[in-house]
Amino acid sequence: MKRTAIYPGTFDPVTYGHIDLIKRATRIFEQVIIAVAMHPQKEVLFSLKERVQMLKAATAKIPRTNIESFDGLLVNYVKRKKARVMLRGLRMISDFEYEFQMALTNRRLNPEIETIYMMPNEAYCYLSSKLIKEAASLGASLRDFVPGFVEQKLKQRLVKRAK
Ligand code: ADP
Repeated sequence: MKRTAIYPGTFDPVTYGHIDLIKRATRIFEQVIIAVAMHPQKEVLFSLKERVQMLKAATAKIPRTNIESFDGLLVNYVKRKKARVMLRGLRMISDFEYEFQMALTNRRLNPEIETIYMMPNEAYCYLSSKLIKEAASLGASLRDFVPGFVEQKLKQRLVKRAK
């Protein structure tokens, strides 16, 4: 059986933190499926199609990655993909409590699926999509945090919103 990891998230938008994690995962797993939430709990700036498109462009050169989307219960999607591992990123202690709850809840829902956590390069430990959107709306340069085409898309979207 192929060792597959499912990396779920909102990716609104993809950042270098996500990409760092995806690269690390491809060194361990034979296939990494990045699963974009169709209907996340939080409000999003980009549509599902846009979030998927940006991820596709950002991972085009990383072998053995696939971008998909999912709806409903994550453990059911992971089971349908015949995978056993879910991958999440851990940045600060602040991620820990929520992630701990999620991992144990998902384990209760399906004990055959393990959640594995990876830490990004320290340069990305403070980076989140939320912070990026705030910084973009204030006109900050995002060069160190997201690919150029993501920065452009953010600026276009935020300018449109401000009009
Ligand atoms: P979600 O809404 O599911 O938390 P995100 O797109 O915010 O989705 O994040 C997806 C996953 O990537 C989460 O596990 C999150 O902790 C992780 N992640 C986000 N940003 C970073 C980063 N800078 N470094 C490492 N992991 C990250």
